[in-house]
Amino acid sequence: MTLLERDAASKKWAKRALVGINLSMVQVLMSNYGFQYSQNLIKKAAEVLEAYSTESRRLFQASEHRFIFYLVGYRDKDELARFGSTVADTLGKLFTMERIGGGIGILEIEPGESAPDTDTLLRRVLIASEKAISTAGKDFDVCFYNEELEAMVNRERDIVKALGAIAAGEETQDRLFLQYQPIFNLKTNALFGFEALSRLKTEELGVVSPLEFIPIAEKTKLILPIGEKVIAEALRFLRRLKALGYSDVTVSVNISVIQLLSPDFTGRLLELIRDAQVDERNFCLEITESVFASDYDAINNSLKELRQAGLYIAIDDFGTGHSSLAREKGLTVDCMKIDKYFIDRLLSTDGASAITGDIISIAHKLGQFTIAEGVEYESQLQYLRKHGCDKVQGYLISRPLDEEDAIRFLRSGTPEVLRRAPDPGSLWEISF
Ligand code: C2E
Ligand code: CA
Ligand code: CA
Repeated sequence: MTLLERDAASKKWAKRALVGINLSMVQVLMSNYGFQYSQNLIKKAAEVLEAYSTESRRLFQASEHRFIFYLVGYRDKDELARFGSTVADTLGKLFTMERIGGGIGILEIEPGESAPDTDTLLRRVLIASEKAISTAGKDFDVCFYNEELEAMVNRERDIVKALGAIAAGEETQDRLFLQYQPIFNLKTNALFGFEALSRLKTEELGVVSPLEFIPIAEKTKLILPIGEKVIAEALRFLRRLKALGYSDVTVSVNISVIQLLSPDFTGRLLELIRDAQVDERNFCLEITESVFASDYDAINNSLKELRQAGLYIAIDDFGTGHSSLAREKGLTVDCMKIDKYFIDRLLSTDGASAITGDIISIAHKLGQFTIAEGVEYESQLQYLRKHGCDKVQGYLISRPLDEEDAIRFLRSGTPEVLRRAPDPGSLWEISF
């Protein structure tokens, strides 16, 4: 019988809690500084934690990188929170030099018969401590366990399971598929291409947004096999378009930095394009500015190689992330996608003071064309035309479409909103 079970049975304490300290980030240092170095850090942490150990607050080492305080007879939740932040401060100071963080999870043990078993308690305190890490970065944060947290963790586990099975090509009901959102050329009113957007559909969860599953795929590195499937599927669609006679339509895919940094990425991508027998000039990669925060030169070299092969490269979500115009200038990209934020702002700011037009000018000066994202209203379209934006994408023209709908959309020609002449007001402004 464990200590936890004995105390639960004896009903000696009204209040009991676990405070878990998660130092799994130390593993990151191991690859750089070696096993001995990281072992010493853990030892130092154990020493400072030991200083907080008392009769009613006993310290245990749960695994190589995890410690747990078992608290009995404490007063209230505030006392727990204060203890958690004291430990966080102490560890934060201890690891200042190493610049690593960790997580502190707190679990209050429900009194009475319904108390979960020891394994469940330990798992829950681990969940809370991991949650505290992912929100923290380089600090130590504190997180209390609750049921929503567990639901979130379970959902994430289901997503990882589904992605894992899809990546391994296992027989499964779960599906990864693409929808295609049209992008129009404002100069010619003709279709420029489609952006491929991934969706995950599982039996238990229904359709899962990429905003949810892509970060999970990145965290688990499943983005490598999943990303390759996305590319292969988009290329198959592109080939189908070519077979249908639409040979100048472009298809874009979103690429994560982890994919770009994997050493054989460019070679493999060019091979897939060749196998699909499509033209490199009809394929576009969308990457976010954040990629340049990692390894600027390596990434820029890969991009150069891909552009030389004929692909388009677009900077996605321009203006939201780690942009630096100095860097943007040295970049080998063809296109700037202006984030929806700057398109939304057109509704609240009057045209004269909006900086969206300036962004378009800057892109043009850098030799890049522009795509405005998230265009929902005609007034935005008019502003964009007037300020020389090259291309547009958004619900005003079409939502992302399933493959068959995308083909039907293509056959139906330029949508009415684009064919309509600009209103007299904006014509007057242009000639003014
Ligand atoms: P994104 O690349 O910025 O894609 C545009 C997102 O805006 C899409 O959301 C699209 O459905 C949505 N959108 C387009 N027009 C409008 C509009 O007029 N109004 C509004 N409110 N929204 C609009 P979605 O499909 O949920 O994708 C979200 C993000 O997930 C994408 O943002 C992209 O960063 C990422 N993503 C999607 N598929 C992939 C993929 O295969 N690989 C990677 N790495 N990321 C992907
Ligand atoms: Ca995109
Ligand atoms: Ca975007």
